[in-house]
Amino acid sequence: MRYCRFPEISRFLFQKKRITVLYYHDISNDNFKWQVEYLKAHYNIIDLITLRDFLNGEKQNLPDYSLLITFDDGHIGNYQLLETIKANKIRPVIFLTASIIGTNNAFWFKIPFANNSFKDNLKRIPDNERRAILETGYKQFLTKNIPDALTFEQIQEMAGFVDFQSHTMDHPCLPNSDDTIAEYEISNSKVVIEGLVSKPVYAFAYPNGNYCDRDINLLIKHGYKLAFSAKGGFVNKNTNPHTIPRLSINDTNNLGEFILRTSGIWHLMKKVKIK
Ligand SMILES: [Zn+2]
Repeated sequence: MRYCRFPEISRFLFQKKRITVLYYHDISNDNFKWQVEYLKAHYNIIDLITLRDFLNGEKQNLPDYSLLITFDDGHIGNYQLLETIKANKIRPVIFLTASIIGTNNAFWFKIPFANNSFKDNLKRIPDNERRAILETGYKQFLTKNIPDALTFEQIQEMAGFVDFQSHTMDHPCLPNSDDTIAEYEISNSKVVIEGLVSKPVYAFAYPNGNYCDRDINLLIKHGYKLAFSAKGGFVNKNTNPHTIPRLSINDTNNLGEFILRTSGIWHLMKKVKIK
């Protein structure tokens, strides 16, 4: 499909005057390198402050084809990307899971469960039940010999080149969490990350992309100016700053797939269930 002109047309129609936000998790540096080269050739890569000022109304215009690169979770592999980030003078955002960074604790969703439907179910049940199941049945997987997430030293080294923002403390499904837990996840992660990088934390990425009105209100109460979802689409000046859409990018070495994902076509195909 990339040999036809769909991605090019989509770029022109939907991305020229809108902002595209990509989200990654744990891409290898080999793939990130060529992907950044492609992005630099086709988009204007912006940083988080620029997007914040635009959505706050402090900045009226952004360059055509503006694009922001974000990462969720704070995987230790993100450290390997630092050279590429520096060499290309880009400033991506990494949303950190604040209770996992700097420890040997595991991301719970990387536990080798018997099947994916079990894992998906853990995202649907009340959060205290999810925690109880992990604590009783999977305790041996919750700590590792080597870290799953970035270490404090890595984060401090990267902080001159990356904006570190919040992805909660423990990566729960927020709408399934009670009010006290949700508020703790949102407020305490901000305190922890600000303490670590000595810079304001004002942006948030919803774990698994899930949120409810209560979560948005808590974010506003605790001073978050921006929050990013996992629903596809593009950003314009009327976008709700607390439900910013993003396009999912994976660790692919396939240029065709990457072009389909960054242009939004992949998301569209998923929506109309072509794939
Ligand atoms: Zn996540």
